[in-house]
Amino acid sequence: MHTYLFTPPTVESLPIRGRQERFPVNRIFCVGRNYHAHAVEMGRPVDKSVEQAFYFTKSPQSLVESGAAVAYPPRTSNYHYEMELVVAIGKTGFRVSEANAHELVYGYAAGLDMTRRDLQLTARDKGRPWDTGKDIEQGAVCSAIVPMPGVVIDQGAIALEVNGVTRQSSGIDKLIWNIREIIADLSTYYHLQPGDLIYTGTPEGVGAVVPGDRITGRVEGVAEVALDIGAAD
Ligand code: MN
Repeated sequence: MHTYLFTPPTVESLPIRGRQERFPVNRIFCVGRNYHAHAVEMGRPVDKSVEQAFYFTKSPQSLVESGAAVAYPPRTSNYHYEMELVVAIGKTGFRVSEANAHELVYGYAAGLDMTRRDLQLTARDKGRPWDTGKDIEQGAVCSAIVPMPGVVIDQGAIALEVNGVTRQSSGIDKLIWNIREIIADLSTYYHLQPGDLIYTGTPEGVGAVVPGDRITGRVEGVAEVALDIGAAD
């Protein structure tokens, strides 16, 4: 046994629907620009025939469970929601084929990839990393993990409301890179491991929230997610 100078951080985890055990979270990967209409609204349309999927990461420590109330974060005046389908990886895989990609799936969740849009766009336009725009304390919101081992989701509605008004409404069938393609491609960069989460990208309609707003969203056949935005610290 090691002894530590101070108490190490706790393992981040999420509840699992229908089980007592929790899902221990390893890494959080996010797919950028994975719905055409969102890529267009960001001013960066995607031509899949000549472009590759790209990824960024969030710290596991940025996780917050659905239903939480969070403080409006520092260093932004344009805090955006992004409604996303989240894949929960349950098995190790490296250079996995698209045909075998489903074997890595433990389940799915509904998530919010919260974004300091002002910082992200400044970083993007200056060719800098996205970390401060994306890796935000309490900025990776996630529902309970829904066990669906081996299942590939390729359709179903994805939607989000702010204060009950619909802001995002699309379908999982509109993913540019689908679940099999994401898992196979990401596994060429990383040895995927149980506990990894993949936020698969957001459809069009992203926008800002302010203190007092309530975000609700869902992925049909998976789960719902909710977040209350409080006053800044
Ligand atoms: Mn996103």
